[in-house]
Amino acid sequence: MVTVNEGQCGLCTHFGEHNKGPQLVEILSTHQAAETLVTDCGHPKLEGLHLRVTPVSGCDGFEKAA
Ligand code: SF4
Repeated sequence: MVTVNEGQCGLCTHFGEHNKGPQLVEILSTHQAAETLVTDCGHPKLEGLHLRVTPVSGCDGFEKAA
C-alpha cells in the first residue's frame, strides 16, 4: 500500500470519476491505496486523452473529492 497525500490523484474528484467503485471511495477515508491501482482521470481537459493515473500521480487540475 502507498500513502496518498493532499493534492494527489487518489484524493481528487476526477480520479476514476466515471467509475468510482468502493476501492476508490475507501482511499478518501484511509489515504491508503494499492501500489498497482491505475484508473482514468475524468478531468474535462484530460478526458479526451484517456489519461491513466495512479493514486499518487497529480496535476494542477486537482479538486478535492467531497
Ligand atoms: S490527473 Fe489531475 S485532475 Fe486527474 S485525477 Fe489526477 S489530480 Fe485529478
